[in-house]
This record gives sequence, structure tokens and C-alpha cells, in this order.
Amino acid sequence: MRRSCYAADRTGHMILQTCYQQCIKHDVHFYNEYHVLDLLVENGRCAGVVALCLATGEIQTFHAKAVIFATGGCGKMFRVSSNAHSLTGDGMAVVYRRGIPLEDMEFFQFHPTGIYKMGILLSEAARGEGAILRNNLNERFMERYAPTLLDLAPRDMVSRAMYREVREGRGINGKNYVYLDMTHLGREVLEKKLPDITEFVRTYMGIDPLTQPVPIQPTAHYAMGGIPTDVDGRVVIDEKNTPLPGLYAAGEVACVSVHGANRLGTNSLVDILVFGRRGGRHALKFIQENDWVPLPARADEPARALVSQVLNSTGKERAADIRDVLQDEMMDKASVFRNAKDLAAMREKLRELRGRYREVKSEDRGARYNTELLEIIELGGLLDLAEVLVAGALARQESRGGHFREDFPKRDDTNWLKHTLAYQSPKGIELKFKPVTITKFQPMERKY
Ligand SMILES: Cc1cc2nc3c(=O)[nH]c(=O)nc-3n(C[C@H](O)[C@H](O)[C@H](O)COP(=O)(O)OP(=O)(O)OC[C@H]3O[C@@H](n4cnc5c(N)ncnc54)[C@H](O)[C@@H]3O)c2cc1C
Repeated sequence: MRRSCYAADRTGHMILQTCYQQCIKHDVHFYNEYHVLDLLVENGRCAGVVALCLATGEIQTFHAKAVIFATGGCGKMFRVSSNAHSLTGDGMAVVYRRGIPLEDMEFFQFHPTGIYKMGILLSEAARGEGAILRNNLNERFMERYAPTLLDLAPRDMVSRAMYREVREGRGINGKNYVYLDMTHLGREVLEKKLPDITEFVRTYMGIDPLTQPVPIQPTAHYAMGGIPTDVDGRVVIDEKNTPLPGLYAAGEVACVSVHGANRLGTNSLVDILVFGRRGGRHALKFIQENDWVPLPARADEPARALVSQVLNSTGKERAADIRDVLQDEMMDKASVFRNAKDLAAMREKLRELRGRYREVKSEDRGARYNTELLEIIELGGLLDLAEVLVAGALARQESRGGHFREDFPKRDDTNWLKHTLAYQSPKGIELKFKPVTITKFQPMERKY
């Protein structure tokens, strides 16, 4: 685990570099700083996308035989997240609004070791090298929760243990964090084997991990759910896995469901490599074998209406205020621990936020690099996705992987060995279910 995690950080950079080099080699054209707003579907086939050019403010239609969404995850719906600012789940929200379901959105992984308040990730590499989690009594509390795996127990278990310590009054200084103690590892290990982690702590916390323990708390890290796809990256739209021709998704935005309810560390990059490649190959074959589908009439109209509504709003709400409430409440009520009461309260809160969102306005009415407009559009997507996550989490009356219900703490294969598919409908979210495909490995209880 420890070597692979550290190696995976480096592998990520190498994947990016290699992909970029290959794109240059093959003369791929990049539309930099275009923000996708809408998906075009005509006669049951994907026909392209509509995007906003950030530099000019123009809305442009991209007519395409095939589209692959690779817009990443949606960790920014939570206050504390390891995800970058742009990870607001846009791709998921765009396809969801076009009637395509989202699968298993209730399965969201929290990584235990995020820098306190900031969420910046300190990977397993630190605990792999021997770092220890401690509470305010200086106890190695993982001895109580996972006597054999200790600090290297699975992410969901460690996150829950940290929350329990805090709830039972053993957080540091009475607050909602514990310590990651690396002080015994020595300079050689910290600087040679854990240089990124050491630097993050020095830069962002202003403390030296050689001499001081690091305040940490669980951080929203990875969406196991997303746009349902088959193993060729084709987006599928129902419980029978019917593909929507020409539409593909890969990476964290997609739910091929290889990670089930709980991804193992390092496996996102494997997922991306395998299914990104398979999706790309299938899309290539698809465009060679199929003709263009005509563009829908007034293809860009819904995207134009969305932008104009924000720019011409006379409301009084600010996106930042609504986002603050969304992130805080999601962290409190729908993160590591969930229960029916909190989730129902969250659903109500989301209704209220939805009402406020209708009154949101952009102070910046300009066309060029209007980042406020973007943030408002992204917030609309986050609200949609939070609603889906909460609906799935409320429905799923069991605990499985990253989804833990205090009121249903056991896994329930009799009733819940199935995927959720959430559809947007005029009456609200419609949940359907899809059977889990089981091949060689039978599901078993986790034991450590
Ligand atoms: C700190 C951290 C460490 C991690 N470490 C590991 C690890 O060691 N091993 C591992 O396997 N996994 C790791 N993961 C998970 C893994 O990195 C991610 O799941 C993976 O990078 C997702 O890749 P992606 O290509 O799907 O999306 P991303 O790399 O997130 O890229 C999505 C892109 O889409 C763009 N985009 C978003 N919305 C729009 C829009 N509307 N229009 C146009 N573009 C848009 C974004 O700007 C971004 O460039 C880590 C994640 C984090 C946050």
C-alpha cells in the first residue's frame, strides 16, 4: 500500500504528461478555457455539446458524432475536500438534466487524512512509512477500531474512527480534528520518502512535521458514483444497460462500477487508463461507422437561457453564501456518518437553497472571464448532485462501503445488493434500481 500510493502520485503526473505529449504528436486541437454547459441529444443519439468560451463570453455549439465526458468528480459539494476548485460535477449535472440517470451517487469516499479545514490530502504514504493517528490523550486510537491493520485500515473505517473520537470528546483541543504524528519518522524519511507531504504541511500549516504532529480530519475525496457506463465507456441509460449512441464517459465522472461502493487507493488511475482507452477506441469505431446526426433546432437555446437568466437576474442572493451553507450542511449531515433524520433535514435544506438559488445574481455582468457566472452555474450543478446523493443515501437503508448509516449499520445483501439510478423528473428525483452483476467473486462480509 505505502509504495503504491506514493508511486501513484508520481504515476498521475506521468499519465498527464504522456497524454499531453501524445496529443501534441497527433495534432489534437484543444479548445482551452471552454466550459461545457449542455449536451445535445437528437433522435436518441448524442449530437454534440454547447460550451461557453471564457475569454469572449460567446456560447458555441460543437456538433459531434461522439462525445466523451471526462470532467471529473464533485467533491466540492462538501466543506472539506481534497478536490480541486473545478471539481463541481459539471459533467454529471449536464447529462442528468438531459434525462440520463446518475448511478450510485450515495457512495462517496472520505479520505481520513486531510489537512484540518483545508482538506488538502496527505496520502497513505505517510501512514505507510509509520505515521500514527493520535487523539487528545495521545492514544493511538486505531488500536481500538482495527487492532491488526491499525492506522492503515480502509479509508472509510479510519474516517469513522476519527469522527467517533471527536464525538466522544477526544478531538484535539475539543475541536473536530486529530493528529497525524510523523515526529518519530526522522528527517531522512520525511524529506526523501515523503517530500510532497512534508512540503504541504510546512507550506499550508506553517508547522514542521519533524517536530510537531499535524492536525487532520476526513476530507471528501472520490465519487464512486457518476454517469453509468458499460466497460466500453458507453453511457447507459437504464437498468438494462441500454447505451445512448455516441455518448461516452470516463474517469471519475463515470460509474463503470469497478470500485463498487468503496474505491481502493490508487485504483482511480487504473480505471482511467483502462476505461479511458476502451472508451476512446469504441468512440473512434463509432465515428467511423456512423453518419452525422443533425443538430437539434436552436441547439444552443437552453444554454443561452441559462446564462442570460443569471446575467439578467434582479435577485439579491450571492452564490458564495449559498455554497457556504451547502458545503457546511453536506459535511454535517451527509458525509462520513449518515442517518434518516439528518438526511431528511438535508433534503429540506436543499429545497430552501434551491429557492434561494432562483434569486441568485451575478455582480459581474461582463462577458469576458466572468468567473462569477461560472461559479453560479457550477453551484446549480452542485445543488442537483447533492439532491441526488441525499435521495440515494436516504433510500439505501443499509451501510456499504463509503455509505454508512448509523441507523442501519449493517450491510444488507438481501435487500440492497443493487445499484441506484437517479433520474430527474418533473416530480423530483425518481430512483430506479439495477441489479449488481456478480461473476467470479461472491460478495462477502468485510473482516479485518
Ligand atoms: C489530492 C488527490 C490525490 C489523489 N491520488 C490518487 C492516487 O494516488 N491514485 C489514484 O488512483 N487516484 C488518486 N486520486 C483520484 C484521482 O486523481 C482522480 O479520480 C482522477 O484524477 C480523476 O481524473 P479525471 O480525468 O476523471 O478528472 P480530472 O483529472 O479531475 O479532470 C477533470 C477535468 O475536467 C475539467 N472540467 C470540469 N468541468 C468542466 C466543464 N464544465 N467544461 C470543461 N471542462 C471541465 C476540469 O477543469 C478538469 O481539468 C487522487 C485525487 C486527489 C484529489
